[in-house]
Amino acid sequence: MKVYFLGTGTSQGIPVIGSDHPVCKSIDPKDKRLRVSIWVHWDNHSFIIDCGPDFRQQMLSCGCRQIDGILYTHEHSDHTAGMDDIRPYNFRQGPMPIYAHQRVIENLSKRFDYIFETENKYPGAPSVNPVEVLNNLTFAVGDKTAIPINVFHGSLQVFGYRIDDFAYLTDVKTIADEELQKLKGVKVLVVNALREEPHDTHFNLQEAIDFINLVKPERAYLTHISHILGFHEEVQKRLPENIFLAYDNLEISI
Ligand SMILES: [Zn+2]
Repeated sequence: MKVYFLGTGTSQGIPVIGSDHPVCKSIDPKDKRLRVSIWVHWDNHSFIIDCGPDFRQQMLSCGCRQIDGILYTHEHSDHTAGMDDIRPYNFRQGPMPIYAHQRVIENLSKRFDYIFETENKYPGAPSVNPVEVLNNLTFAVGDKTAIPINVFHGSLQVFGYRIDDFAYLTDVKTIADEELQKLKGVKVLVVNALREEPHDTHFNLQEAIDFINLVKPERAYLTHISHILGFHEEVQKRLPENIFLAYDNLEISI
């Protein structure tokens, strides 16, 4: 199984529009971060987690020609705003299966009402097949199983996902003990780390490291990164040896 980091930035991306912050002005490609998303693929199966505003650019960069489904973590725009751009996949494959909490499906159906329209739908509009994700209920992704992990982003419920020995958790601030059990034996963990300073709804760097030490994966990758965290190269040097800052277009094998 391969995991391709399509985007590793927080909601505004890096560089932030109009920012003179040194990280926003950095010429290191690892300091350029699109909105957070990953592409998980193996054999002839291909799934993405989240579909933010940079989706089109991300799909062009990674060369992904087929998507068997989109797994959503939550409804915030940095994770969902790219939905209109699934059309090339619709034209080739038909309606796109989307997996999300019922609340997220309802939210998307209001914001993208023309996609969910059943009567007099505009020809060529995107089409989706929504599948409700329930906590404590696994679902099939190709010939593998996805395990939803229930976490909280402040007071908002968010799903992380485990597939085999890989888990992806973004926009986490708190996680209940029983959900931690679902991460037992994970070899590769991706988790959000916004910046050094505490934040109300996101892990900061220390909280992410503490969480990784609790889960004890072989390797962990940090994502959903703000420019305020610092230069990729400098932050990486300070991390424990099994923890890496993810960066856009990084592909790892599990
Ligand atoms: Zn986010």
